[in-house]
Amino acid sequence: MNICCVYTTDNYIAGKKPLVSLVKIPFGISFIATSLKNSGYDVQILVITPETDIRRTIKGYIEEHHPRLFCLTSVSSQYPLIRDIARTVRSIDDSIYLLLGGHHASLNPEATIKEPCFDALCIGEGEFSVVEYASQIQDGKTPSQIHNLWIRDKENGTVEQNDSHPFIQDLDGLPFMDIKMWDRWIAHTTRVAQVLIGRGCPNTCTYCSNHALAKLCGGKYVRFRSPDNIIEEINRIIIDYPTVRYVRLQAETLSINLEYTYALCDRLKEFNAGLKYPLSFQINLSPGKGLLTDKEFLYRLKSAGIDNISIGLESGSEKVRNEILKRPRYTNRDIIDFCNLARTVGMHVKLNVLIGIPGETLSDFQETIACVRDCNPQHVTPFIFYPYPGTKLYNMARNMNLLSEDLVNPTAERKISRPDLPGFSKKQIQREFILFYYHVYRGRLPFYMIAARAIREFMFIDPKINARFKKVFNYSFLRNLRHKLSTDPPHHL
Ligand code: SF4
Repeated sequence: MNICCVYTTDNYIAGKKPLVSLVKIPFGISFIATSLKNSGYDVQILVITPETDIRRTIKGYIEEHHPRLFCLTSVSSQYPLIRDIARTVRSIDDSIYLLLGGHHASLNPEATIKEPCFDALCIGEGEFSVVEYASQIQDGKTPSQIHNLWIRDKENGTVEQNDSHPFIQDLDGLPFMDIKMWDRWIAHTTRVAQVLIGRGCPNTCTYCSNHALAKLCGGKYVRFRSPDNIIEEINRIIIDYPTVRYVRLQAETLSINLEYTYALCDRLKEFNAGLKYPLSFQINLSPGKGLLTDKEFLYRLKSAGIDNISIGLESGSEKVRNEILKRPRYTNRDIIDFCNLARTVGMHVKLNVLIGIPGETLSDFQETIACVRDCNPQHVTPFIFYPYPGTKLYNMARNMNLLSEDLVNPTAERKISRPDLPGFSKKQIQREFILFYYHVYRGRLPFYMIAARAIREFMFIDPKINARFKKVFNYSFLRNLRHKLSTDPPHHL
């Protein structure tokens, strides 16, 4: 039985291979596709961008492969496009089953199931449920009684809301992601790869969906794979892609369990020692106060080959960070000292910053500029606040009357300013987004670099222009030149 797994993105390269590198493979739908393939189904991936002729593509796929099931995934910003795809499938062949998973369906099932084109919604983790759903379809049954699924009866339209299964506790039991399935969509498979090392996050930041996702099922939400299992997957990747030198270790935050982190560091160090070309690794860090001043922690990471840390600072205003975003607590002094220490140890730090947060004022934002300048990280990425339904900050924005239908338009979701905030207008937010790099690095980097970056941020505003820029700058000689001139770490692809 053929199954089509669909992924949509508006961060793409124009042309036939829209995903720039292996780190653009989305974990959720990829684990679903792998689980289905390992269960014996003929599974294909479709990547759809705003430039795809949806009807032609879907019709061509259906005529060629005769799928019985489409598996779709979306966060809220991708939902309108995914719904169009589902409606297109439905209009071409009503007998095909359509299942939607991902954050949007998980956090807004009542609203989503009202859309008649979906036959089932997956709430939470879907690896086992989707395989069972496919199996019942293959056996000619009417799908029913499957944990984590809301299932619509194709005959009478009634919806069966099944119980949720506890979060999958043994992540080592999941198959390694089948990256090869994505090869035809990836422009460069040469330098950078990624592995998922854990799921869940213990923090409850108000702009992030983790606090809501944690409540979907029972059982422990924050889980990690064993170091041995991770090493085995990395080894598999470098056999399949021998020119890969950088690996992102993807977990919401690695630092929450120090014993585990150090065990993983020891295994990475040992593994790297046996390689002709040792790998370097990147992690996400959500540092609590204690860790920011812990020299030993940084040395342990560095000795394992982890030389690139990405941190969500989000705001340099302690008031915004603590009272609105509910980020883990630390002071600006802590993060500045941490960045200085990281530099002395030889690590790259990338800070992520959020602009236009409900409740933020221009003066709060100026504190952000000052803090990031004092941190002087090797790289900084600004984003503009986007209201994700299901998050606390979305509700807060709604209560502040900051949202209307057109304000949650998903185009260039975290690159376009939407509401005017009291004390920080929409125009100011957009301007500060474009000029952020200038504010942080003026007087420190050559002017051409700062100007290039400002132009780059400007291009992000239109996904189609962005896609063409990427196409031009991904021709290999320009790509190499860009890497030479850029201060960005090589992981940043
Ligand atoms: S630390 Fe990161 S992943 Fe965890 S809740 Fe906050 S934003 Fe989400």
